[in-house]
Amino acid sequence: MAGGVAVPWARPSTGPGRKAARIVDVACVHGWLTEVAGSLEAERDYLTQLDAAIGDADHGINMHRGFTAVMRRVDDLDAATPGILLKTAGRTFVSTVGGAAGPLYGTAFLAAGEILDDGDTFGPRRLLEALRASLEGVQRIGAASEGDKTMVDALAPALAAYELELRTGGSLETAVRAAREAASDGARATVPMQARKGRASYLGPRSVGHQDPGATSTSLMFAALERAVLADRTQRFAAGTRSRASRP
Ligand code: ADP
Ligand code: MG
Repeated sequence: MAGGVAVPWARPSTGPGRKAARIVDVACVHGWLTEVAGSLEAERDYLTQLDAAIGDADHGINMHRGFTAVMRRVDDLDAATPGILLKTAGRTFVSTVGGAAGPLYGTAFLAAGEILDDGDTFGPRRLLEALRASLEGVQRIGAASEGDKTMVDALAPALAAYELELRTGGSLETAVRAAREAASDGARATVPMQARKGRASYLGPRSVGHQDPGATSTSLMFAALERAVLADRTQRFAAGTRSRASRP
């Protein structure tokens, strides 16, 4: 993303510097969506293999198709805020992805976008509210609890870890790291579970011994969030250093 390019998520190359690193703006959210799209492309076959074991072998294909459409739609926007980006992502997901993941992820993105509303930036606490709204949306639609071997097994612990980190004095950066670790542990912890929701539940005990594809894609999204936040901080720090260095 080159500085000065007339896209809705471009940030001026000089800026408020380090203090603002605790807030998230449209450039960072766009960076996150870009990271998610890249990761889903790289892991498409892996996600599909996981779904082949306990589902119908389409999760990687569904997610990749959905996010390709999301990036196309988002890059066509004339003006954007973080909320608009996420609501656009949610609507696009619902309309382009079939199966369980489409409405579930679509609802999660839409719910987060609604919490962010039309503000230009948001802080770590608002992100907590957005994550909570996403989990509530997924559970409203899919009625899964932790332990049912679904994406909830990555999302719920990620939210809990993020919240704990903030409540114990952590920063946005440490909170997204804690969320990424918890989501990844949560996805791995689905291996010994027996599925009680979704297509995998039809297998009964034969669903045991395989990692849930949806929990895995959720953990990829948290890994992408951490990378986007850290890249954003690095970029802001560099911009702050440049602007200080250019002072007479
Ligand atoms: P489908 O199962 O329709 O083929 P996908 O393969 O794209 O859809 O997505 C499967 C994933 O969706 C599962 O691995 C699981 O994580 C998630 N999932 C399925 N049903 C539910 C549910 N009721 N609540 C939460 N997540 C669910
Ligand atoms: Mg499937």
